[in-house]
Amino acid sequence: MDNDDILLLTENIHLLSKEQAWYYRVLPKSGSGDALELYCEDGSDEDSLTAELEVLLGKNILLEQLPSTTVARLLSKYYLRENAVESTTQMQLGKHADDFLENLISEAKSLKSSDIHIERYEQKCRVRIRIDGNMVERYLLKNDDYPALINKIKIFANLDIAEKRLPQDGRINFRSGDHQFDIRVSVLPTLYGEKVVLRLLNNDATNIDLNSLGFSDTDLENYLQGVKRPNGILLISGPTGSGKTTTLYATLKLLNKETRNILTIEDPVEYTLEGVNQVQLKESIGLGFAAALRTFLRQDPDVIMVGEIRDPETANMAIRAALTGHLVLSTIHTNSAWGTVSRLIDMGIPSFLVANTLSTTVAQRLIRLLCPNCKTQHSFDPSMYPRQYRPSREVKHHYRPHGCEECYYTGYKGRKAVYEVIPVDLDLADEIKKGNANIHGLLAERSIHTLAENAFDIFSEGLTSIDEIYPLLFNY
Ligand SMILES: [Zn+2]
Repeated sequence: MDNDDILLLTENIHLLSKEQAWYYRVLPKSGSGDALELYCEDGSDEDSLTAELEVLLGKNILLEQLPSTTVARLLSKYYLRENAVESTTQMQLGKHADDFLENLISEAKSLKSSDIHIERYEQKCRVRIRIDGNMVERYLLKNDDYPALINKIKIFANLDIAEKRLPQDGRINFRSGDHQFDIRVSVLPTLYGEKVVLRLLNNDATNIDLNSLGFSDTDLENYLQGVKRPNGILLISGPTGSGKTTTLYATLKLLNKETRNILTIEDPVEYTLEGVNQVQLKESIGLGFAAALRTFLRQDPDVIMVGEIRDPETANMAIRAALTGHLVLSTIHTNSAWGTVSRLIDMGIPSFLVANTLSTTVAQRLIRLLCPNCKTQHSFDPSMYPRQYRPSREVKHHYRPHGCEECYYTGYKGRKAVYEVIPVDLDLADEIKKGNANIHGLLAERSIHTLAENAFDIFSEGLTSIDEIYPLLFNY
């Protein structure tokens, strides 16, 4: 039988407590009367495991070994606890740092986690993972085990083991079972030791599609107008982790034709796209965004993607590239689509140049969707909105997260992007030249939906909770 097909019966899951399952890394296969069949990890010491479990559970134990990655995946699926503190497992690594690391990475990937944080404090070390944007504590380690784990990571990432006082960056090409992807490694010396963050990258862009990211029909139409122009700048704003890069990759996939020369400078290269010339940012050797852009202009480009505009030099180069007839795609840190205009002007770009080059400005956030299997309906009280907020229509019922097996007891399953897309037409370009910060009237005239309005729609359809959209309701 394929290991992916293993299903545990609900009635058997209760035969072990979560703590027992995680501590011994075993799972109930079947139970009848006095006998209990358990899955355990390959390489387990079956004799001592059987002896201990027989005493603990008062039953005759039969063991069957499974690959440790499968056990980790099943444990996460069937025994993940709602509360972060409870779900933490006390780990003793000893010589098993290799296995632990491999399992940890596979487990994080199975849970669709984006980052793994390994941190040392005075008394303990902890491992947290980020799922759907939120950090969840996963393991506690003994301080004695910490150096071995960090050294393993450094070796895999080709970093200097002896260097413990300076930050280091590296990359791991991870292969285990069905998993194959790159991991960006960042090591930062902190008060009690080095903190390591592993960013699990998605190497496969085949499933990214502009149509399924969350654009409304009108927004997508407006967005594509900017994408189809031969020149100009298209900017996507939003905080880290708002899915900007995914939108950019989906856009590049659309533009990726034999007839176009596409160049990108990224930090990191998250997806690889066949046919696109992707360059990894390396500031330590002087290969920054601005330097790469300068070279790109001599490479006869049609489309240029710059990972992020974060300094005046890059902003200037990007504007120059757009002025000289190229389509430039990038991201920028601002709170709203229109805020991008003042950010560029703050970076020293004259407003007439912004007006001439900015073709589309987009704001984006990610919203967690309620698990459809366990969300619960309640009557809605408008006092739950921020005080100033005036909804466009009345909501009588809303849904709250609950938690079930399907959503790993988080109450949420999957995310959806929320957009605000402003195509800069001649009138809006005039407003940029005038330095007008308040364009709500003009947006309403053009039926452009704000982040708040689009988020409200998702909420009123019952797809997400008031808590998820609350911060966006101030942005209208
Ligand atoms: Zn659920």
